[in-house]
Amino acid sequence: MTNKSAIEVNGRTYAWPKRPLVVVCVDGSEPAYIERAVEMGVMPFTERMLASGSDLRCDCVIPSFTNPNNLSIVTGRPPEVHGISGNFFLDPDSGEEVMMNDPRFMRAPTIFSAFEAQGAKIVIVTAKDKLRSLLGNGLNYGKDGSICFSSEKSAEATLAENGIDGVVEMVGMDVPSVYSAELSEFIFAAGVKLMRSRRPDFMYLSTTDYVQHKHAPGTEGANSFYAMMDRYWAELDAEGATLVMTADHGMNAKHNAAGEPDVIYLQTVLDDMLGAGQARVILPITDPYVVHHGALGSFATAYLPASADQAQVTATLSALQGVEVVLSKQEAAERFGLPTDRIGDLVVVSAGSKVIGTSADRHDLAQLKEPLRSHGGISEQTVPMLSNTRFEGLDGNRHLRNFDAFDLGLNYAVI
Ligand code: ZN
Ligand code: ZN
Repeated sequence: MTNKSAIEVNGRTYAWPKRPLVVVCVDGSEPAYIERAVEMGVMPFTERMLASGSDLRCDCVIPSFTNPNNLSIVTGRPPEVHGISGNFFLDPDSGEEVMMNDPRFMRAPTIFSAFEAQGAKIVIVTAKDKLRSLLGNGLNYGKDGSICFSSEKSAEATLAENGIDGVVEMVGMDVPSVYSAELSEFIFAAGVKLMRSRRPDFMYLSTTDYVQHKHAPGTEGANSFYAMMDRYWAELDAEGATLVMTADHGMNAKHNAAGEPDVIYLQTVLDDMLGAGQARVILPITDPYVVHHGALGSFATAYLPASADQAQVTATLSALQGVEVVLSKQEAAERFGLPTDRIGDLVVVSAGSKVIGTSADRHDLAQLKEPLRSHGGISEQTVPMLSNTRFEGLDGNRHLRNFDAFDLGLNYAVI
């Protein structure tokens, strides 16, 4: 039995889907990727879709990293509500840097779990397994239950843990490398198959930014990736689904004229000011998959010793070339909607091509095969909000966020 009335989740109300709603989070999809690909004629479906549907831009969550934004999209709220403020944080209880990929760090239910409780069918496919347990938190698997798996671990998916087995046979593709464009293609291939066989009420497809970290908009490497997505989006559209595409964050070149990463080593700066190891810099981009960004992004948070003069530290850091803004914990929480207990005393955001590291010896830049492209800052905040439908009754002055994707797809889409 399904309850067809509207559902309230995390203080927002969502209409029941009239037909399948597919929300795609294209990881690292700076707006220029689709703009260039459409101009160059490699996304024919998207070109037609944007002419008759919606072609909007919106702001992602800062830090412009993957986990805080994916969790914002699926809860409809910023990190101060759902708790996932970065890929990493300093656990105040243990003093350890902890990866926030465990559902125990989540402070709000997802839109999926609220709708599933009323009988909706949910399908979630992610690239990397690190996101899967967060996105699938609170769902029920087993026969006729929800489905949630990653392409990375698709061969290990089971009915009990993922709501599906035999994924690799169903998709008909080999399990791709975690560092590949195919890791994302597998998601869409699975999505199309599952749309035909299961016709879920909700489908959430979340890719990896492997391609965007390597290739600039309009290049062959980027265009072939977007052309691939275009073909699958056309197939989902043909199945009669409402499509909403957004991104977790943008992506920019982060290197100097010589092609070297353009880095502010913040731990080194603070060690020089306050003494070695007195302050502790946390880079919330850090994750086990660092090959494509060297753990360098445009956002850092710093824990200062009690003896530090915070105003003086702020003034010194603000004066560094390439620093966009230095905020106190309270200022950052208010401006970016972050939970105060999961950020340090200061938040530092770098501008344009600059990234923030800890110290030179703690970043293995030898693994970077191309000039660095990365994200994390305000410079990567603008992302697409596209749909194969028009959004009716939307206030033209509304400040749209990427975590409005379900609101737009359920409450405004003209079907
Ligand atoms: Zn991302
Ligand atoms: Zn990335």
